[in-house]
Amino acid sequence: MSDSNQDRFNASLVKWIENYYGPVSEVAGCESPIEQMMFLALSTTASLYGETLQINTQYRIDDYRADFYVRSWEVCSKCKATFERSVIVECDGHDFHERTKEQASRDKKRDRIFQQKGYTVFRFTGSDIWKDVFECAGEVTNFLREQIEALSIDHWISHHQEASAE
Ligand SMILES: [Zn+2]
Repeated sequence: MSDSNQDRFNASLVKWIENYYGPVSEVAGCESPIEQMMFLALSTTASLYGETLQINTQYRIDDYRADFYVRSWEVCSKCKATFERSVIVECDGHDFHERTKEQASRDKKRDRIFQQKGYTVFRFTGSDIWKDVFECAGEVTNFLREQIEALSIDHWISHHQEASAE
């Protein structure tokens, strides 16, 4: 898509979000159009694949707030055990040139703190989101899907292998 087509596409996407979810500032606690687009793209991508996705905005971890806490899970069809994985998604401002060194340093520190606490962090620049928000959201949902599939296979092998081999 050319830049101007992309801009028009994104503008109509933001408009669509506003029509659907209400005024910008009230869309599920999103603080900017970039975040709204991410919220919508995550929900849409998940529902396309029939995945359960819980998306919390402005998620508090200690003294910090993550833009998104995204959790996905699956329930074992045999024993009802639940496998889940969650990630943090951070959206930088639309124009990264506006970000100061201090801001960048603060963001890196947040990433380190979240990672120390065991969270996987996906940080996207505003221009990446603006360029193709569905690709960004796809990275997140693909990761979650792969992780949960792996957990599910491990679980099946360790809990139900013998039963199914009979
Ligand atoms: Zn099971």
